[in-house]
Amino acid sequence: MLMQRYRVAVLPGDGIGPEVVDGAVRVLQAVEDAAGTYKLELTYGEAGYNCISKYGTNLPPHTIDLLKATRACLKGPMTTPEELGAPPSAALQMRKMFDLYANMRPCFSLPNVPSLKPNIDMIIVRENTEDLYSGIEFELGTGIAVAMRVVTRRASERIARFAFRLAAKRKKHLTYVHKGNILRQTDGIFKQAVLDVATEFPEVRVDDLHIDAAAMQLIKQPESFDVIVTTNLFGDILSDEAAQTVGGLGVASGANIGEKYAMFEPVHGSAPKYAGQNKVNPIATVFAGKMLLDYFGETESAQAVERSVFEVLREGKVLTYDLGGKAKTSEVAEAIATKVHKA
Ligand code: NAD
Repeated sequence: MLMQRYRVAVLPGDGIGPEVVDGAVRVLQAVEDAAGTYKLELTYGEAGYNCISKYGTNLPPHTIDLLKATRACLKGPMTTPEELGAPPSAALQMRKMFDLYANMRPCFSLPNVPSLKPNIDMIIVRENTEDLYSGIEFELGTGIAVAMRVVTRRASERIARFAFRLAAKRKKHLTYVHKGNILRQTDGIFKQAVLDVATEFPEVRVDDLHIDAAAMQLIKQPESFDVIVTTNLFGDILSDEAAQTVGGLGVASGANIGEKYAMFEPVHGSAPKYAGQNKVNPIATVFAGKMLLDYFGETESAQAVERSVFEVLREGKVLTYDLGGKAKTSEVAEAIATKVHKA
């Protein structure tokens, strides 16, 4: 049988990035060995904080070339300086460069991980290219600045269709979140686009919530959601909130998906105070790797990764500090990889 090959860029990033990415790669290699039907051709590249002093940018041209030569990227967290004039986050640049319009954050209850309810299983789909993240800001006068909230029919329709397709494959329930009572023009466009696309998916039940009510409902009844679709800023906030309902940053992963490219990353940042200590949880990045396998259609391998993580958590013997254990990053990755081999 012909061996399927997938070219993947790996950007370990900085801070705890290299450690968690090493862990995820260890698991990906184990599952690839176990399957024996495909090859992940991983090429490493540099990006992030340490590149700024070397190249004046956190995403140097040779790394952009590498990304362009691959089909997807596994990205570690990167420290983003906040001073005016500093380069924007590498993730933001990649989203723009490759038009990665759909941000997907799965949130589900995990065994032995504190969760608001035992049966949470939702995905937040966030429009990734416009809204207040248009970056169009200007000063009107001293002490008065304006930021532009850009919402287009095209981008709203595209994200709505992405979310409906996902819901149709899952529990067939979609909630669209907006603030249409205040932002009548911009969220008016978003709402209408969702309702128009809904006619293509009659099997999907559709609800809507204002952003403030949605933030509350996520705490009150997180198990009532399946797919949530919303605009960029609301999605940014809701997805961190949702991650916390199922165990927090150590286990939350995200995907940024476009028509031709995709990038997978843990939700957490570079946690500089833990860098180099082999201490933090690699599971968020392992789950990012699992989504990469799903993206390539390697569903069995993706399920094997998820099963192995669940088993390690259920046994509760090899856990990092954030889940009440004392294991090292590399030990957790090894425990998951070993389960993959046994499956
Ligand atoms: P952070 O996510 O790096 O860390 C906050 C705290 O969360 C840590 O101190 C730690 O207690 C905990 N934590 C994070 N990851 C963990 C893990 N894998 N296991 C266990 N505990 C974990 O957030 P921050 O301190 O606000 O940001 C640090 C830097 O990371 C900033 O420069 C920020 O801009 C950047 N950042 C980058 C990304 C990205 O690259 N995608 C995302 C968020 C933040």
